[in-house]
Amino acid sequence: MIKPSPMIQCHAESYMQTLPSQISQLNDIVAKHWGIHELRPLQQPAMCSVLEGRDSLVVMPTGGGKSLCFQAPAVLRGDTTVVISPLISLMKDQVDGLIASGIAAIALNSSQTPEERFRHEKDILNGKIRLLFVSPERLVQTDMQDLLRKIDVRTFAIDEAHCISHWGHDFRPEYRQMRMLKTMFPKASVHAYTATATEQVRTDIIQQLGLKDPEILVGNFDRANLSYRIISRRGGVLKQVQSVIDRHKKEGGIIYCIRRAEVDELTKDLKAAGIKAMAYHAGLTAQERSKTQEAFSEEHCDVVVATVAFGMGIDRSNVRYVLHTAMPKSLEAYQQETGRAGRDGLEAECVLLHSGADVFTWKAIMQKAAADQNQGQYQDNDMSYLETAYEHLHLMDRYCRGAACRHSLLVQHFGQTYDKDNCGACDICLGETVEVEGALVIAQKILSCVARLKEKYGIGYVAAVLRGENSQEIRDRGGHSLSTYGLLKEYHVNDLRDWMYQLISQEVLVQENVEYGYGRTVPILKLNGGSWNVMRGERTNIRLLKPAERKKGERAKLSKAETGSWDGVDRDLFESMRELRRQLADERRVPPYIIFPDSTLRELARIRPSSLERMRMVSGIGDSKLRDLGQTFLDIVLSHCKETGLSLDA
Ligand code: ADP
Ligand code: ZN
Repeated sequence: MIKPSPMIQCHAESYMQTLPSQISQLNDIVAKHWGIHELRPLQQPAMCSVLEGRDSLVVMPTGGGKSLCFQAPAVLRGDTTVVISPLISLMKDQVDGLIASGIAAIALNSSQTPEERFRHEKDILNGKIRLLFVSPERLVQTDMQDLLRKIDVRTFAIDEAHCISHWGHDFRPEYRQMRMLKTMFPKASVHAYTATATEQVRTDIIQQLGLKDPEILVGNFDRANLSYRIISRRGGVLKQVQSVIDRHKKEGGIIYCIRRAEVDELTKDLKAAGIKAMAYHAGLTAQERSKTQEAFSEEHCDVVVATVAFGMGIDRSNVRYVLHTAMPKSLEAYQQETGRAGRDGLEAECVLLHSGADVFTWKAIMQKAAADQNQGQYQDNDMSYLETAYEHLHLMDRYCRGAACRHSLLVQHFGQTYDKDNCGACDICLGETVEVEGALVIAQKILSCVARLKEKYGIGYVAAVLRGENSQEIRDRGGHSLSTYGLLKEYHVNDLRDWMYQLISQEVLVQENVEYGYGRTVPILKLNGGSWNVMRGERTNIRLLKPAERKKGERAKLSKAETGSWDGVDRDLFESMRELRRQLADERRVPPYIIFPDSTLRELARIRPSSLERMRMVSGIGDSKLRDLGQTFLDIVLSHCKETGLSLDA
C-alpha cells in the first residue's frame, strides 16, 4: 500500500546477496531468543548494515521493531554493541527484556554503586556483554571512553536519534556531544534509529553524526493497527474523556493534557469516578513520577493522565488508547505520542479533542518558553526557535481541521504516499463527520455578521449574535439590532464555533490577537480578501463539517483495526493469563510485557496449545521463555479448556 518516497535509498537486495549464511543465522537467533519467526520488511537490511559495519539511519514508526535491528546482530557478532539511549528507565526495561530472552545486557549509569560498576566493568572487559546501554552524558566522560577503547567497540546504536537535531521536535543538547563518535572511534560504525524524522531532520541527523555513506532505511509510517479520531472539544472534557475510557474498561490508556493543572484536575475527577488513574507531570517529585510510571508499567494502574513529560520512558506495549485533551504541538509529537498505543501490533485507538483555541494556548506557552530560554539551548543556531515551533503548530492545526483521511495525511507528512481510498480506521473514513449542506450560505452569514460587528468581536460573541441569544451582553452592545441577529438560530452553538474555526483554516476568516489593556490580548475575528470573495459569491468551494448524528443507543462503528484481532480469542482465558502474568511480573519485579506481550497471550488464548511443542510455534515464545514460563502457562490453558470444554490446538 505504501510507496517509499523517491528520496529513499535501499540497498536491501545487494546485502541479501552478500550475506546468505549470516542471514539464516540471524533468523535462527531471532527465533531462538525472541520467538519471532518472520522479520519485518526493513529489519533484515537494517541488520545487514550493522553486520557489514556500514553506518545507517533507520526510520521506523514507534513499535516498528527498531531495537531488534541492532539487538539481533549484536548477538551474532559476539562482541559488544554500545547502545546510547536518552533515558535510564528506558534502558532498564530494555536490559530486563534482553535478560529475559537470554541475552547478556547491562546499563551503566551514574546511580550505580562503585561495587556494581566494578562488577559490570569486569564483565565488559571479559567480553561477556552483548549489549551495553549508556546515556549520552555518560558516554562523553573520559573513563567511559577509555573503557570502550579497551574493548575496541565496533558498533554504536543511537536510539531516539532525532534528539540530535534542532529541526526536530525534541532537541536535546546533550545529544550533540555524539558528534565525536566517528572521530574517536574511527573503526566503528554508527547506527541511528528514530521514529520521527522528516527529510530535513534525517539530513540533519546524518550531518550531525558525521555518518559516512550511510544506508538510509525508511519504514512504512502507517500504523494500520491504530484508529484515529479527531473530535471537537466541548466544554469541560470529563464527559468526552469518560466515553473513551468506557470503551476500554480495565485496559491501559494514556491521556495527555497541555498543562499540569489540567492533569491534576482530570486525575482527581477520574479517580472520583472510580477509575484507576494516576497523574504524571514535571511538577511532581521524582518519586511520585516513578511511582506512576511503575504502577502503569506493572498494570496496577489503568490510566495515566500526563503532560508530554510522560512518554519516552514508558514501554508498556499494550496501551489500548491514547487520548489528547488538546492538540499536541506538532505532527511529530502526535505521531510519537499516539505511537505509544498498540506497540504490540494489536488494535488501539487514538482520540484527539481539538479546539481552535489550542493554537493560542501553545503560542502563549512557547512565547514564555522562548523568553525564559533566551540564554539557553537554542543559541547555537541562528534559526528562530519560535518560527519553527509555529510552523509545526500550524501544520498540526491544519491536520486537525482537515477533512481528509487521517492515516493518509500523516504518512504524507512523513514523505510517503498512501493509496488506499478508505483506511477504514479514522473518523473521516468511518463517516463520523459529514459535510454540512448549504455550507456556502452559512459561511456567508457568518462572515457578514463579522462585518456588521465591524470586526471587533471574538468567536463567542459572533456565535451568540448569529444564534439570536437574548442576553444582557447582546443588548448592551447592540447585537440584537443587527440584520444578522438570529440568522443561524437553528444551529447548535458548538457547531457555529467549529465552523468559524473551519473557515479560519480555509483562510477566509482571520483570528487576530488584539491588545485589551493591562497586557491582556483577546482573539478577535477579522476579514480578509478571501472573506469578501465568499460574501460576493466569487469563491464557492467552502466545506463545513459536523459530527454525523447517531441515533440514540446506536454504537459507534468500529474500525477493522478495532475488531480484527480478537477473532477466535477466548476472552476469559486471556484475562486469566493476564492475571497470571501480572503475578509473575510482580514476583520478578519486571513489567508484565517482559513476561509476554499481549499479542502472545491472545495467540495462546486463540490457539490453546496442548503441549510445549505446540506452544513453541506461538510468536513471542523463544527458547528461554519456553523453558522458564511454558509449563506455567500451559497448565492454565489445559485447566481452562478442561473446565469449559473448549477445544485445544484450534
Ligand atoms: P520500536 O523500538 O521501533 O518502537 P520495538 O523494537 O520496541 O519497537 O518493537 C515493538 C514490538 O514489536 C516488540 O514487542 C518486539 O518484540 C516486536 N517485534 C519486533 N520485530 C518483530 C517481528 N519481526 N515480528 C513480530 N514482532 C516483532
Ligand atoms: Zn481514513
